[in-house]
Amino acid sequence: MIEIRCEGHTFEREVSLILALFYEDPALAFVSRWTDEPGLKLKLSLRQQADGVVADSELFDGHKRLFHQVQRSYVSLEEKAMRKTAKQAVNYALLLVLEEYTGMEQGWGILIGIRPTKLLHQLLSSGVSKEEAHRRLQQDVVLRPYKLQLLQEIVDRQLRVVPDFYQVDQELSIYIGIPFCPTKCAYCTFPAYAIRSHTASVNPFLEGLHYELERIGEWLTEHDQKITSIYFGGGTPTSITAEDMDMLFQTMHRKFPHMDKVRELTVEAGRPDTITREKLEVMKRWEVDRISINPQSFTQETLQAIGRHHTVEETIEKYHLAMEMGLTNINMDLIIGLPNEGLAELAHSLREVEKLMPASLTVHTLSFKRASEMTQNKERYRVASRDEISAMMQMASDWTQANGYAPYYLYRQKNILGNLENVGYSLPDQESIYNIMIMEEVQTILGLGCGAVSKLMAPGSGKLTRWPNPKDPKTYNDTYKILVENKLRDLNEVYAGKSAVQS
Ligand code: SF4
Repeated sequence: MIEIRCEGHTFEREVSLILALFYEDPALAFVSRWTDEPGLKLKLSLRQQADGVVADSELFDGHKRLFHQVQRSYVSLEEKAMRKTAKQAVNYALLLVLEEYTGMEQGWGILIGIRPTKLLHQLLSSGVSKEEAHRRLQQDVVLRPYKLQLLQEIVDRQLRVVPDFYQVDQELSIYIGIPFCPTKCAYCTFPAYAIRSHTASVNPFLEGLHYELERIGEWLTEHDQKITSIYFGGGTPTSITAEDMDMLFQTMHRKFPHMDKVRELTVEAGRPDTITREKLEVMKRWEVDRISINPQSFTQETLQAIGRHHTVEETIEKYHLAMEMGLTNINMDLIIGLPNEGLAELAHSLREVEKLMPASLTVHTLSFKRASEMTQNKERYRVASRDEISAMMQMASDWTQANGYAPYYLYRQKNILGNLENVGYSLPDQESIYNIMIMEEVQTILGLGCGAVSKLMAPGSGKLTRWPNPKDPKTYNDTYKILVENKLRDLNEVYAGKSAVQS
């Protein structure tokens, strides 16, 4: 039990988030006076001064007493900015006292957000020098130098891959969600439905998707809109038949303008058990640039434990088949922290990846999302400790460096094990443009199909409006016509510069 007394502020939520960086599922009690219960006691006070704030943090565990103080000047006297400064001061004081007490260092400092690279891009695109941007990130959110270096490396790489990065809002990208998979993985919270038990939904869903592709295609043509990248995700798009895939590509090419200018077309073929020679032929014919074949782990017992009903051999076999057929830009995903996996299993997976050397490798850290089967039955799964997870991340990072891969995008998740991050690595010139676009939120992403979330952004506005499609095929199938009408109406409003709509 951790008792917390907040004085001079009401930042309970932020304080809880910082504590969660140090303790898994901590039992917190915000109190106005200490109880007699044993355990950690934290007093966090905030005092206003003429030109800023002073935050004190005091920690007492019955034996040890620690104290830190942080002073901050206001950079602006606007109420919102002053509140932000005060919050940062309290969080920083808390971070310092917890780091000293636990001996853990938080590389991301007090940053809770999931897109750290976006912060750096925002500063740089506003004309701030690199040095000043770094100084601000170090001061405001206490980013540690090694994380700043990583961010800068990624940002530099993104600017090389997308040279018009700060004007790319003149174009948009498309995400197409196909919500079916062979089986549902235990950690999955994506809109993914086992295709065999949803066969009756597949054709109505495809009918809706063709309709949405056509109507959105007309809007794109009317607005003479160029498309930066297209991404088929889900679910696993290759769960549908080769003929159905072929027809979707036909509709897309018939209705979307400037298809010859699309910089990248990706299809998630994540589950090797969905890949066939016929589907690869279809993708080759429609000039798909990039596919994903995701091992997640090269340990068979792990695949069984997480409900992925395919074999390790199948992953390797399908990888070779795709390469032979000329689909050579292949991404592979690995997940760190899967049940019963530690350094030895990761080392094994990396040795296997090394035999294949895919164009890109995305290293995820297992995230306990509330809706997944795994979170709901947490006690059934044994996962590595925080220290081991950190060591595994380091192992993956060292491996990528030794094998010619470099990081090109990064995001953090809530409830991620060890407060680490997911990192996309690639060999030179094999980065995914779509991954950069979705992560950095620099242009409209039009989401079509099930579970797809559009992010609408008028060029030059920098303001995003989320527009979610239904997650389940039944609702999508029942409502797609009205859904498309509403989306086009809101899209027109956003692009006409009217105030952003909320759907
Ligand atoms: S393959 Fe991917 S989308 Fe499908 S169930 Fe597994 S994690 Fe979810």
